[in-house]
Amino acid sequence: MGIATINPATGELIKTFEALTETEIEQKLSLAQQTFEQYRHTSFEQRSQWLTTAAQILDAEKEAFGKIMTLEMGKPLKAAIAEVEKCALVCRFYADHAAKFLAEVPIPTDASKSFVCYQPIGAVLAVMPWNFPFWQVFRFAAPALMAGNVGLLKHASNVPQSALAIEDILQRAGFPTGAFQTLLIGANQVAAIVMDDRVRAATLTGSEPAGASLAATAGKQIKKVVLELGGSDPFIVLSSADLEAAIATAVTARMINNGQSCIAAKRFIVADPIYDEFETRLVEQYRALKVGDPMLPDTDIGPLATSGILKDLDQQVQVAIQQGARVLIGGKPLGGTGNFYPPTILTAIPIDSSTAQDELFGPVAMLFRVENIDAAIQLANSTPFGLGASAWTTDEAEQTRLILEIEAGSVFINSMVKSDPRLPFGGTKRSGFGRELSIQGIHEFVNIKTVWVR
Ligand code: NAP
Repeated sequence: MGIATINPATGELIKTFEALTETEIEQKLSLAQQTFEQYRHTSFEQRSQWLTTAAQILDAEKEAFGKIMTLEMGKPLKAAIAEVEKCALVCRFYADHAAKFLAEVPIPTDASKSFVCYQPIGAVLAVMPWNFPFWQVFRFAAPALMAGNVGLLKHASNVPQSALAIEDILQRAGFPTGAFQTLLIGANQVAAIVMDDRVRAATLTGSEPAGASLAATAGKQIKKVVLELGGSDPFIVLSSADLEAAIATAVTARMINNGQSCIAAKRFIVADPIYDEFETRLVEQYRALKVGDPMLPDTDIGPLATSGILKDLDQQVQVAIQQGARVLIGGKPLGGTGNFYPPTILTAIPIDSSTAQDELFGPVAMLFRVENIDAAIQLANSTPFGLGASAWTTDEAEQTRLILEIEAGSVFINSMVKSDPRLPFGGTKRSGFGRELSIQGIHEFVNIKTVWVR
């Protein structure tokens, strides 16, 4: 299937879209370039005003935008609406802080005057995934636009209406037409755009093969890239933890977005003395979750975004079983129409199996029992990923060790991993490089210029 909206709850093909032709892409790249020459000279006040208007549009129409997302990729509507609210938040955050983040920094040297200034670089291509169709885009667009860059969006092929809605929001907010354009194109059309001289940098959020492919193309052209890739975040629970809070959070941390979040807790690593209670109570809580129509207010878990994802997840679980894993709950697709997969818990997974190394992108939790904190940290660091980590302990010495020794882009103590405009977000190891959000995010796509005046 090419670029299309297919309702994942019913399998119904709602609408198909033609990919842009080479001529149409050329027109859009040309418009981006022309717009940049003007747009780069707009003031922070002007950009901030437009971005604040975008936030107002998002807030005012959050139900409608939420429904587009739920229709296209199946997240529960209440979560989709919350996602739109978070997009308004990131717009306001950068509208309020970008001028400060990009202000000249005087640096005393032997010059009469020396300082660092930040300048926009031009058109930046954003290749984005379907799992948070609005949030992923706004967390790129808000800093990029405030920095004076122009954006080009290649969104995932299953969320074209979300992609078009975002372009429309930014245009209605007042940004010039060429400041942010959606390109309805397939993945096979990305490389030529990355190679185009008018595109100065690229960011990709998605899978490792897609990131590697984009980065290879950009590398040949000496272009900057930010990659936000997959993860298999550990959720470590040690003996002193507040078990009540840890278990309640373990439900949300795994099941958020129907289990399809890069920073979802995917591996639960639990200390031996509390393991049995943790397992029993987690099973109870997962069993109580309601799987069904994502448009209904009491649904906890909607369908997976595509039939391909359902098939892949099912296959991964079957492999896990062959490798010796035990299924405590769930374990196979619900069947019938829609891409529904139930909350699933796997235990007794051999730690040297491929399953223990893999990212499971759906509502499947892997449980591991460990003897002590050393084993917990070793297991946490044993995958190729390094996105986020959540660790639960009230012991300060243990907290310090977890903060220092876990190989991840973020460590959250006694809380689940989440993104927040005020804090940088990104990974290490094969989860990617570069940062989004906060001051670090806006500094990724600017020319950090050193100025020295005798
Ligand atoms: P995906 O297949 O890599 O798709 C992501 C985007 O990349 C889509 O727009 C896709 O376009 C495009 N794409 C795919 N192959 C490409 C290629 N060879 N060259 C250029 N573009 C290409 O990822 P997914 O499976 O949809 O998303 C799930 C993955 O994303 C998971 O691993 C998840 O952990 C990760 N993720 C990471 C973060 C983070 O912040 N670190 C956030 C969300 C998701 P088409 O749709 O047209 O194929």
